[in-house]
Amino acid sequence: MRKTKIIATLGPAVENYEIMRRLIKAGCDVARLNVAHGTVESHRRLKETFLKAANDENKVVGVMMDIKGPEIRVKTAKLSSLVPETEILLGEGGDIELNQPVVYEYLSIGTKVLIHDGDIVLETVGESKGLWRMRVVRGGVIKPRMGVNIPDTYIPILYIQDRDLHFIKSIPDVDFIAASFVRNARDVCELRKVLKELSIDAQIISKIENRDGVENIESILEVSDGIMVARGDLGTEIPVENLPGVQKYLLKKAREHGKPGIIATQILETMIHNPYPTRAEVSDIANAILDGADALMLSGETAIGKYPVEAVKVLSKVAEKADVLLSEHEKMLELRGTISESVSNAAVLLAKEINADALLILTRSGKTARLISRHRPSMPIFAVSYSRDVLRKMTLYWGVQGFEVERFEYADRSVKEAIDTVEKYEFVKKGDVLVIAGGEPSGIPGTTNFVWVQIVGDVIARGSGFGKIIVSGEVCRYPELCDVVIVSELCDEMDFGDAKAIIVESPIYDPSKLNELAAKGKSIVAGTGKIKIEGKITVDPERGIIWH
Ligand code: ATP
Ligand code: MG
Repeated sequence: MRKTKIIATLGPAVENYEIMRRLIKAGCDVARLNVAHGTVESHRRLKETFLKAANDENKVVGVMMDIKGPEIRVKTAKLSSLVPETEILLGEGGDIELNQPVVYEYLSIGTKVLIHDGDIVLETVGESKGLWRMRVVRGGVIKPRMGVNIPDTYIPILYIQDRDLHFIKSIPDVDFIAASFVRNARDVCELRKVLKELSIDAQIISKIENRDGVENIESILEVSDGIMVARGDLGTEIPVENLPGVQKYLLKKAREHGKPGIIATQILETMIHNPYPTRAEVSDIANAILDGADALMLSGETAIGKYPVEAVKVLSKVAEKADVLLSEHEKMLELRGTISESVSNAAVLLAKEINADALLILTRSGKTARLISRHRPSMPIFAVSYSRDVLRKMTLYWGVQGFEVERFEYADRSVKEAIDTVEKYEFVKKGDVLVIAGGEPSGIPGTTNFVWVQIVGDVIARGSGFGKIIVSGEVCRYPELCDVVIVSELCDEMDFGDAKAIIVESPIYDPSKLNELAAKGKSIVAGTGKIKIEGKITVDPERGIIWH
């Protein structure tokens, strides 16, 4: 089972319902709508088709709207390509116009202007009739809407732009808002305020794509619900050779804060044109997961690529392998703090200690799931919630698989309902050991305050175990012989033939005799007291329990 989550950008390549279904079946967990492209109408259609396809695939998915923030783009370009060492004019009515005229005020001689993630580089060399004269340092094809970066120059543009606000108001029911070009915590708070005024309950994922974002990461994380390492722009705003280190640093910070971290851009870039990935791309995916990414995001690969479904399939396969590497290498994070954090840490530690089959989390806000996920436990993480909103929110959390349950007032009722739910979908089976964590429903919301261990199924009896193998089979009483033989007391002359397990009811027995039988491959539980049961039961000698 893959644990790293997959985000796919929707666009013309996947707009039809059948392809969307295949995209979801291939493993897409969250859809991204990039409002820099397309219209409100086209995004609404994409979103609705995606949700219908997910519903028909019976999968809980999330929707992320990517807003542009104070982004600078090419507005118009009179030339279609720029020749190196020539000069062009930048500004209102010039060869190139930008969408943010305020930029012109902050250029000075020597300022570099980077276009389309640095494919084109211009340098300010002088002025002419109110326009900037720019030398083409690196040339290439130029088109309107291409992104522009001006590294190391702070340009005071308001965070919320009209176009973004229009999209937020027009498509309010999204789970995540990816906020481009977040520079500091103030930007996030400005967006949060707007969302609150509009009663929109979306998670804010801050996209870190310039030096300010990196420098202010601590305060940005405090007010965000997650971050995205947007490598495209980040790789032009900082020296590209610093990118791998910055990626590791940002993911580490996200994890310390217990918030999801996403890696984006050029994940499978060559699959826009080819049906197979490069070796470098495959390696990059695995390393991003080892660095601590919760989710990886596809952009052009799914929006406009020739092989959108294949790209998701490749990402899913590669991620699944890397997830295993991760739990092999992972040491338990030393993280302390609030009661929720300590209880979540204890749950993961306990699950490791007793080699639990799964972690089962009861969560009202998704917080417990988030805090458990960050330790990257090797066992599955099942999270149940009665809120669809919370389930969708958890689509970004590494390893967390959500299930919807009814709401109960008492923890033991909720736990029973939770176990029944995961058992119904066959994610756990009778005899599996679960570590369960959650918040008491009557307690303070958002506080994790209990951890307990439970076995799926009803325990009939407990005793001292001898042997290692768990045996399930029909039960009978000695001198009859079957898979599981019950005796009141053990005598020397008893012969158990091919029986696989023996239950000794009496509390008085000779352990050396039982060890001898165990050495012959029998599984034994002794000292159980009187057992009145027929049919099929299971004997677990390691834990000394019998259940059905
Ligand atoms: P960002 O800089 O925010 O990462 P981008 O401009 O690089 O975004 P992506 O969202 O990564 O663009 O998508 C890759 C390409 O897919 C875009 O350059 C655009 O041509 C195309 N695309 C994306 N979404 C749409 C859409 N809804 N309609 C048409 N084309 C789209
Ligand atoms: Mg880009």
